[in-house]
Amino acid sequence: MHDIVIVGGGPGGYASALYAHNFGLSVALIDDERPGGTCLIRGCIPAKQWLHVAEVFTTVAHAAEFGVITEHPNLDWDAALARKNQTVEGLVRGLGGLLKKKGVEIITGFGRLAGPGKVEVESEGEKQTVEGGAVILATGSHARSIPGYDFDGVKVVSSDHALDWPKRPDRVAIIGGGVIGCEFASFLVDVGAEVHVFEVLDQIIPGSDAEAAKQLQRQLQKRGVKFHIGVRVDAPKVGETVVVPFGAESVEVDVILVSVGRGPNTEGVGLDTVSAELDGGFVEVDLNTMQTAQPGLYAVGDIVAGTPQLAHVGFAEGIAAVTHIATGETRPVNYQAVPRVTYTHPEVAEVGLTEGQAAEQGLEVDVARHAFNGIGRAIIIGENQGFAKVISEKDGAIVGATVVGPHAGELIHELMYSVGWEALPDEAAAFIHAHPTLSEAVGETLLSAAGRSLH
Ligand SMILES: Cc1cc2nc3c(=O)[nH]c(=O)nc-3n(C[C@H](O)[C@H](O)[C@H](O)COP(=O)(O)OP(=O)(O)OC[C@H]3O[C@@H](n4cnc5c(N)ncnc54)[C@H](O)[C@@H]3O)c2cc1C
Repeated sequence: MHDIVIVGGGPGGYASALYAHNFGLSVALIDDERPGGTCLIRGCIPAKQWLHVAEVFTTVAHAAEFGVITEHPNLDWDAALARKNQTVEGLVRGLGGLLKKKGVEIITGFGRLAGPGKVEVESEGEKQTVEGGAVILATGSHARSIPGYDFDGVKVVSSDHALDWPKRPDRVAIIGGGVIGCEFASFLVDVGAEVHVFEVLDQIIPGSDAEAAKQLQRQLQKRGVKFHIGVRVDAPKVGETVVVPFGAESVEVDVILVSVGRGPNTEGVGLDTVSAELDGGFVEVDLNTMQTAQPGLYAVGDIVAGTPQLAHVGFAEGIAAVTHIATGETRPVNYQAVPRVTYTHPEVAEVGLTEGQAAEQGLEVDVARHAFNGIGRAIIIGENQGFAKVISEKDGAIVGATVVGPHAGELIHELMYSVGWEALPDEAAAFIHAHPTLSEAVGETLLSAAGRSLH
């Protein structure tokens, strides 16, 4: 009998397991693979490694603009793939070591709830039952597809397959212009592929600030990505090549990458043996505690209904669940201040409300923005496109922010504090930013939000 049994060793599950150590709780962590989950093995980490390959390639390709003369770069795909695998392996091994060091019992096998407090684990035909005072379900998510676009792993693929392509595809159609689709588009176009992005809605990275999405689209378009926005694709014709029809038109490519969202892994995990409630397959929880309708059963990460499918949200939900199990205290996640980053080139980062969401909620807001084109550091590094934007309630606190541009994913964090602490623009603008840094774009925006400006 363990204090906590966790099913799923991705960010939600492994963060729960690691955090339980703070309270001296005994933990069993069940995963049918090595712990790491989507994020470490086929998500955040490998995707960002490929994006970094593209960044290095682009830096070398543009070196002459800085007076550094090199030969035009060639991409050794095998070496880049090996680097990706090495990064994943290093992190997965490191995590395994850390879990062991903290005394977590790792059980390899498929876990299925078998009533309150019980998990049946199946591995190579053998079954065992593991019992816990509390159970945390963290089984994560899988790539979804659309009718006619069944994954075959070769011509019609998901991000799982694309991260392991044995060579660079020459022509790719990406169905879905969300975060994952745009990250692949950015990487692929930078390493020389022909890329088409199809998005059924009227903007890419739906849900993001419309102006930031346009800026990203413009910059990707300039580098060669062909966007088909507001377009619904028909079933593809798969042969030697693949044809994607849309309306009276079509494009011919070598491979289709479908990135239309991720569904919860809640089928076949025994949720019918407990009294938890589902919404469209996602698990409903009390967001104060992460507890389901079944006392002692918690859910965290991508399977939770209505919370963002992000690794760091999984971490935070794991912490909230374990805190409740260990102490009975409620320490809910502050979903309002979760940073959301699209790691394209340029990056798009947001926290709190976008300008559009503030309008939808009927808030009266002021919007301050400052472009990167006057920021010394941005000019030095040759990345002076984009802007920072701060949204504050009229005569009130900062409620949201967007940064699109160089290192936006890092810059957003100081704005995270402003949103999380409900800072007034004047309070946030009182701090000084080092010169010359990219952060000055944020400092200048905050100054404008406070009704003043410098440059
Ligand atoms: C291409 C891509 C890029 C991404 N990039 C980012 C990013 O940059 N930043 C970010 O924040 N998020 C990113 N994400 C999302 C992120 O990966 C997920 O939000 C995160 O992994 C969810 O964590 P989780 O613990 O809920 O589930 P998962 O990471 O999906 O882990 C679930 C684990 O449970 C195991 N499992 C499932 N069912 C069972 C069972 N019945 N028994 C035993 N084990 C089981 C699975 O094998 C898996 O190991 C990306 C996702 C993808 C696909």
